[in-house]
Amino acid sequence: MSSPVWHPFTQHGLGEPIPLVTRAEGAALHTADGQRIVDAISSWWVTTHGHGHPRIMAAIAEQAGTLDQIIFAGYTHEPAETLAAGLVAMMPAPLAHVFFSDSGSTSVEVALKMALGFWANRNAPRHRIVVMEHSYHGDTIGAMSIGARGVFNQAYGPLLFDVATIPFPAAGCEQTTLDALEAHCREAPAAFIVEPLILGAGGMLIYAPALLAEMRAICARHGVLFIADEVMTAWGRTGTLLACDQAGVVPDILCLSKGLTGGAIPLAATLATAPIFDAHFSDDRARMFFHSSSYTANPIACAAAVANLAIWRDEPVLARVAALGLRQQQQLDALGQSVDIANPRRMGTIAAFELAGGAAGYLASVAPRLMAFARARGALLRPLGATVYVMPPYCIDDDDLGAIYATLGEFISGD
Ligand SMILES: *Cc1c(COP(=O)(O)O)cnc(C)c1O
Repeated sequence: MSSPVWHPFTQHGLGEPIPLVTRAEGAALHTADGQRIVDAISSWWVTTHGHGHPRIMAAIAEQAGTLDQIIFAGYTHEPAETLAAGLVAMMPAPLAHVFFSDSGSTSVEVALKMALGFWANRNAPRHRIVVMEHSYHGDTIGAMSIGARGVFNQAYGPLLFDVATIPFPAAGCEQTTLDALEAHCREAPAAFIVEPLILGAGGMLIYAPALLAEMRAICARHGVLFIADEVMTAWGRTGTLLACDQAGVVPDILCLSKGLTGGAIPLAATLATAPIFDAHFSDDRARMFFHSSSYTANPIACAAAVANLAIWRDEPVLARVAALGLRQQQQLDALGQSVDIANPRRMGTIAAFELAGGAAGYLASVAPRLMAFARARGALLRPLGATVYVMPPYCIDDDDLGAIYATLGEFISGD
């Protein structure tokens, strides 16, 4: 009866049911007991085009028939070469080097190590990382260290390293944020890392492209490396290929993962500019980049990502993203007119708001109650505390999107 599986971010002691999913297609999951569940959060933000995109599935099957996995130190393979060339062609030109890993968290760890390696190899070591309040960069020790501290990582606090934190640029406080960044940059930190335009796990907090551009300019002025964590924001999520594109910003280091394979299979890439790579380029082995994971650039995952790039090249993905953004806005507006919600906002395909009016003591229980309510009505939602967001795959149709908002309206008016 009881399963040996230990699920992520799950309190097994509460005995909450865990549906058995047997199949996924487009914007929907199907469970063993025959329920169809609309995936309103793109399976934790990874699924871009939709589940089971035929081209990505075919690429995986074909690659699995020829080369499953090889060591990537001292050897290479066609899917990784094609993917790296494709990424360099697609992303802003200064990002000319591609380092593969397996998850968003490891892409961030790699970015931090590249930044520190850059300074160490120039014989001018720097260690301090500047971060933004409310940020999330992953759950490994380094990624937790540069993310917001809270109940999620309280037990691990003694293992986390110190960082310099600038305030989130809330409306009216933008100059405080910029001044804080400027002040920290004067003390020669190694790098500033930021989620461009929207902080995801921190509560879908949005700031203006002009601010991102100003933060980038401050780092450039002080010679501080600028790392963009686009693990959530890339691949059209914010309306453009990269969120940085909306600000005309090119980072020194770029982290990609979630939508890199269209969300089908794990893969990550950390892209770097020539100066970062060149700082590690030498005839001295002691200056190489000391990082690897067993499955670096797994050929099957790379083939899936190559198929994703082909979809971006051949299909009108950005037009789909723009249309979904408009439909999200219409649904959000209509919801706000029929029930009481706070701070409705949207960035590209992501719509978010806070549940209004609830007593503070309520908040702890509202997210699991909404999750259960939605699941019973065939929608996968997973609020961040009192912050509700809808982030569906780009293929979602009007009926399914409408059903998500109808469920939200029903929950809020009945609560
Ligand atoms: C999800 C996320 C990560 C971590 O990615 P994993 O694949 O879960 O390790 C890092 N940064 C951001 C901005 C994310 O949203």
